[in-house]
Amino acid sequence: MSEQEIPVAVREELERKEILKRYKSLLRSIRHDLTNEQKKTIRSAFDLALDAHKDMRRKTGEPYIYHPIAVAKIAAQEIGLGTTSIVCGLIHDVVEDSNYTIEDIKRKFGEKTSKIVDGLTKIKEVFDHTDSMQAENFRKMLLTLSDDVRVILVKLCDRLHNMRTLDSMSRKNQLKIASETLFLYAPLAHRLGLYNVKSELEDLSIKYTQREAYKEISLKLNAKKAARDRYIRKFIEPIKKKLDEANIKYTIKGRPKSIYSILKKMNQQDIPFEQVFDLFAIRIIVDSLPEKEKSDCWTAYSIVTDIYKPNPSRTRDWITTPKSNGYESLHTTVMGNDGKWVEVQIRTERMDEIAEKGYAAHWKYKDGKDGINNEAQSGVDGWLARIKDILDNPSSNALEFLDDFKLQLIHEEIFVFTPNGDLKKLPKGASTLDFAFEIHTQVGSKCIGAKVNNRLVPLSHTLSNGDQVEILTSEKQHPRDEWLQYVVTGKAIARIRNYLRESKRELAEKGKELLKKRFHKEKLEFLDDNIQKLVRYFKVQSSLDLFYSVAKELITPDKLEISNILNKKIAPTPSAVKTNTPNSSTKKNEIVVGDEYDLPYSLAKCCNPIPGDDIFGFITIGEGVKIHRTSCPNAVSLMSNYGYRIIKSQWKDTMVKTESRFLAGVKIIGIDDVGIVSSLSEIISKNMGVNMKAITIESHEGTFEGMISVFVEDTKHLDDLIANIKQKHPMMDVFRMELTS
Ligand code: MN
Repeated sequence: MSEQEIPVAVREELERKEILKRYKSLLRSIRHDLTNEQKKTIRSAFDLALDAHKDMRRKTGEPYIYHPIAVAKIAAQEIGLGTTSIVCGLIHDVVEDSNYTIEDIKRKFGEKTSKIVDGLTKIKEVFDHTDSMQAENFRKMLLTLSDDVRVILVKLCDRLHNMRTLDSMSRKNQLKIASETLFLYAPLAHRLGLYNVKSELEDLSIKYTQREAYKEISLKLNAKKAARDRYIRKFIEPIKKKLDEANIKYTIKGRPKSIYSILKKMNQQDIPFEQVFDLFAIRIIVDSLPEKEKSDCWTAYSIVTDIYKPNPSRTRDWITTPKSNGYESLHTTVMGNDGKWVEVQIRTERMDEIAEKGYAAHWKYKDGKDGINNEAQSGVDGWLARIKDILDNPSSNALEFLDDFKLQLIHEEIFVFTPNGDLKKLPKGASTLDFAFEIHTQVGSKCIGAKVNNRLVPLSHTLSNGDQVEILTSEKQHPRDEWLQYVVTGKAIARIRNYLRESKRELAEKGKELLKKRFHKEKLEFLDDNIQKLVRYFKVQSSLDLFYSVAKELITPDKLEISNILNKKIAPTPSAVKTNTPNSSTKKNEIVVGDEYDLPYSLAKCCNPIPGDDIFGFITIGEGVKIHRTSCPNAVSLMSNYGYRIIKSQWKDTMVKTESRFLAGVKIIGIDDVGIVSSLSEIISKNMGVNMKAITIESHEGTFEGMISVFVEDTKHLDDLIANIKQKHPMMDVFRMELTS
């Protein structure tokens, strides 16, 4: 019987049963024992949600209530959160979607719960507006975060479930939501130590933003699974034997790499799948007593390195000094059979659970009954303090703030010491100047250099793990423009920008006075209208910039007749999309932009889309619609920051083979060979009839890397070309590359 034939009453009855079934499965997923009180609270949250969403359905057609139940279940089962969070998961959409108010929630569930739900409702509004609104709201969201981390944790559960059910959304929304997830939520999960959530969010994101690459990698992963398992089995055999002899209790997991991390490595290091894939990793989880954790891990380490030779530069001890997101583990990379490097992670069961589930698990180990209690949050405190520091800085505007915050999220950490031996954590890549600002704004502003391990270094010097740093200052010193290039920490960036902005403002005041005098001399009125004309004439950003330029003598009012400029008709800067003349790279009629067949567009130079690529349109200011590949390095930030400017675009299905050719890059890596250039050009030009635009070959130490730009018809044409080169030169790595021009 098909769905339509089921009478409504029967279908409703079936759905009612399914809802109850899902609710019961939520209850079963809660790991801690519930008091009667807690049971009642959860039940009444469920009843409230059920009532609030009773007439609503998700895009999939399912009853809406499936969603909050799923969110609560993720909170309970996958992050290990307590009753309050489960309740918030169940009712997180209630205020947004029904007539119930925050006041109602407060009366029913108390102050705490209502605050969290209020925070969750606010985050909802974040991404549906303009760019600066997004950033501003994001900032607000983080302010609420410092009140209660559960807002973010439940939000992550919500986002995870939405990502798992993204299939039913429109393509445009898929791209927007997936990019936003990659841009903000995955780093956030990472920073909170939620490893599993983070990697699932990442994989789901690229499943939608980079469909082709995702498909290809998952196919290859499946195809090679058996061989990989065999290798790992052989690798761990002798380790197991020795661990048993030493009477250590343990489990060993092969560690599958996430699709996202494979793709990232391929892109970052310009290497094909096979080379990334060749990096194997295992994890040894030791069952240990609390007081023996460290020594047991090191015993396991010495067993592994007795059998396989370690690479000394790749041993990391996160047990003695845990990362600030709570991560503890011992890492080493050893040479396995057949000359393959294998990464080995060693940790205890407790450490493993924290690594995968994050602070929620941490709290559990500390004492929390409800998952979270205040004193146990101390680990997150340092992080929150840093964020608060940026938030409190009154002048940092919202977009800059977002950048700064992202810097805080994505950096790896190093540990350095003050002259007294105090430990400071800094992001990898931090300079002496970052360190100076980390100590104090005054120390940073006056910094002229430093002694690192007793050697004199400039303030731009990049610090390494374990450095001892003594900052040198001078009263005459002050921050300069170029300092921004030396720093990576949000704090230093914010402080330097702040100073520069202030001094620019002071200078601009002087410039304004100079310009005023000039106006007087010519007997002109110093009106805003006139000033705006000058702003446009000199193509500067704002009146502040204009005044500043005058003060810096980049614009010299003495040498110009202002009246001439003002009387000349100056065309306003073009801003409307449609009035723009298409530029030379515009191809006509090959792409449908939105639903229109003849909107002007041009192909973005950063990723050079060719027919067959997954693409989207981006409405620029002044340059019409730019077509990017969804795998473009800029795509994530464009889509998540300017979602409202994204326009769905696709290649026409019935594209007649035109004369059009599209520029694409091919990278080739192989063993040095004298005849390589002529062999390649023979395959490309003669056999395939493809035009080459440029070819560069660089050799180093017996290998070479070649970069060829070619004109092709579409992705199939390009794939054929790559296959042809591979066939002639099976030992080479050949793959498509972004053109860097
Ligand atoms: Mn939701």
